[in-house]
Amino acid sequence: MSNGFKAILVSRDEDKKQSVDIVELNDNDLMEGDVTIQVDATTINYKDGLAITGKGPVVRHWPMVPGIDLVGTVIKSESDDFSEGDSVLLNGFGVGEAHWGAYAGHARLKSDWLIPLPKGITALQAMGVGTAGYTAMLCVMALERYGLTPDRGPIIVTGANGGVGTVAIAILSKLGFEVIASTGRTEEADFLKSLGATEIIDRAELSEAGRALGKERWAGGIDAVGSHTLANLIAQTKYGGAVAACGLAQGFDLPTTVMPFILRGIGLLGVDSVMASKTIRQEAWGRIATDLDMSKLDALTTTIGFDGIIQAANDIMDGKVRGRVVVDMADTQA
Ligand code: NDP
Repeated sequence: MSNGFKAILVSRDEDKKQSVDIVELNDNDLMEGDVTIQVDATTINYKDGLAITGKGPVVRHWPMVPGIDLVGTVIKSESDDFSEGDSVLLNGFGVGEAHWGAYAGHARLKSDWLIPLPKGITALQAMGVGTAGYTAMLCVMALERYGLTPDRGPIIVTGANGGVGTVAIAILSKLGFEVIASTGRTEEADFLKSLGATEIIDRAELSEAGRALGKERWAGGIDAVGSHTLANLIAQTKYGGAVAACGLAQGFDLPTTVMPFILRGIGLLGVDSVMASKTIRQEAWGRIATDLDMSKLDALTTTIGFDGIIQAANDIMDGKVRGRVVVDMADTQA
C-alpha cells in the first residue's frame, strides 16, 4: 500500500468484546473533514486509557482510532482558515471518541476544531500540556473568575501526580499560590515539591466519607478525582472559596450535602474541556504560554514513540503514570 501509515484501531466483535490492533491505513480510509493533517505528536490522557482498555464507555463509533489530542502539520486543506504547512493543535471535540483521532500517522478533521499551534510552544511541549494540562488551566481560570487570589489562602490539588494535577501545581505556584498536593504516591513528595507544592497530604485522608462541614483548610481546590474526595474538599473549603471539579478518577458520584454551600457560600465550578469554545481554548493556551514554566513541564513529561502507546494507556489506568506522557509520532509512516 503506498502512502500508508500506522494506526491503532479499537474494534468490537458481535459480542461487544473489544480488541486493539496496530494496522496500516491510508488517506482514503479516514473519516470526513476539511483538513488533512500529518500527526507530529500526541499524548496519553486518562480518557485515552479508557478508550484503549475499554474500561470506560468513551468510544461512540466503531471501529475507532483513539487519541483526543494532537499537534500536526496540514497536508491538505479545503478551509480558508488553514493552509498546507500550518502547525495546528487539536484537543477534544469528540475526536478519538466519535471521530478518528490522533493515534495514526494522518488524521482528517474539521477546521472548526483546530487552533493554530500557539507561538513559543513546540509540538512536543503542547502535547506535554495536552488536554490534561489545558484542563488544569481551565480550572485555574475558573477559580480566578470566582475571585480567588493567592492572599486568600492555599489551593488543594487532588490526583496530584497525574496529568491534570502536575500541571495545575506548576501553574498555581507560578501564579504565587500556596499549593497543597493530595496524592496516593507520597513517595513522590520531592517531585511534587519541585513542581511548586508546599505541602503534601495522603489522599487516604480525603477518600472516605467525611463530615458535612469540616475545619476550614484551603481557599479553593482543583479536583480530578470526584466522589468522597470532592465532597471532603468542599466540606473543608474556607468561607467564600470554591472548588473546580474536572475529573472522576475515584468515582463519578458526589456524596455531599448542601451545608458548605448554604453556610459557607462555597462555589462548585464545573470544568469541561471537550466542547469549550475556540475563544476559551485560545485564552487558555495563551495563558499556558505565559503562566506555565516550561522547565517544570519538561520535568513532568516522559516521551515515548508510537509503539509505546498501548502499554502507556494501560499504565495510566493502573495509576502508574507520573505527570504527562508525550508521543513523538515520527515513526508512523509505513
Ligand atoms: P491521570 O491518570 O494522569 O491522573 C489521575 C490521578 O488521580 C492519578 O495519577 C492519581 O493521582 C489519582 N487517582 C487515581 N485513582 C484514584 C482513586 N481511586 N482515588 C483517588 N485518586 C486517584 O489522569 P488525568 O490527570 O489525565 O485526568 C484526571 C481526571 O480528569 C480523569 O478523571 C479525567 O477523565 C478527567 N479529565 C476531565 C477533563 C474535562 O474536560 N473535564 C479533561 C481532562 C481530564 P495520585 O497518584 O497522585 O494519587
